[in-house]
Amino acid sequence: MFVIGSHLSISKGYLNMGKEATKIGGNTFQYFTRNPRGGSMRALDVEDMNSLSAYMKEHNFGTLLAHAPYTYNPCAAKEDLRAFAKQAMTEDLERMEYLPGAFYNFHPGSHVGQGSEAGIELIAAALNECISSTQSVTILLETMAGKGSEIGRSFEELKEIMDRVSCKEKLGVCFDTCHVWDGGYDIVNHLDEVLLEFDRLIGLDKLCAVHLNDSMNDCGAHKDRHQKLGLGKIGEEALRRVVTHPALQGRPFILETPNEDVGYASEIAMVRKWQEQ
Ligand code: FE
Ligand code: FE
Ligand code: ZN
Repeated sequence: MFVIGSHLSISKGYLNMGKEATKIGGNTFQYFTRNPRGGSMRALDVEDMNSLSAYMKEHNFGTLLAHAPYTYNPCAAKEDLRAFAKQAMTEDLERMEYLPGAFYNFHPGSHVGQGSEAGIELIAAALNECISSTQSVTILLETMAGKGSEIGRSFEELKEIMDRVSCKEKLGVCFDTCHVWDGGYDIVNHLDEVLLEFDRLIGLDKLCAVHLNDSMNDCGAHKDRHQKLGLGKIGEEALRRVVTHPALQGRPFILETPNEDVGYASEIAMVRKWQEQ
């Protein structure tokens, strides 16, 4: 089964996101657990979450992705910001147990001048506090573009974090094509080598999901500006090779391109065509 979806808004509720995904041709999706730039959470609605689970099962969906808000920084310099990140992540994870087996994707954090070593230590410590050995959710560290002091700009940095976490079986990675490219990995000319490098350091079995985005900038630009598929510097041919790469089959591919639903629908149709060829 080929799994494709886009980023949807939770404002209309869980079941409605599932229906929306179907409407635009997807068989999974991603949503923010809260307002991406704020911190407040919707009231808990177990019935709606159960309805989504049933709907996804009925319609043969692939694994669901939840994305943590950008406001969490588990390696902030200020203690209160770190505490907020840990508490909010713990709450998100508890709630996500109503969507068993889903992925919870987060941006590892920005070390804000403390240095990457210190940042890596703090992120791993936060994960060790938040992860429960009985949770069904897998936490995904997202590959980052390396904007500012972002941690996760290289596979080495992600590995460093993962090595320090005790419940390793609860961890995975989300491979964002725009971020990896902006981070300096040439997936246009050397996709096989990049994936081999990922496998050598982290293991392809830990590559759980893909964020499928084109990039407005050059390889290594460390900018993080997403573009519609085929209209950026990565381009259609290279993205097609990602989507059809044998090592990546079965993973959910999530579009985070600058689109509304109509644009997502046409990109999903285009990517499905690549898969069928
Ligand atoms: Fe992200
Ligand atoms: Fe992403
Ligand atoms: Zn991004």
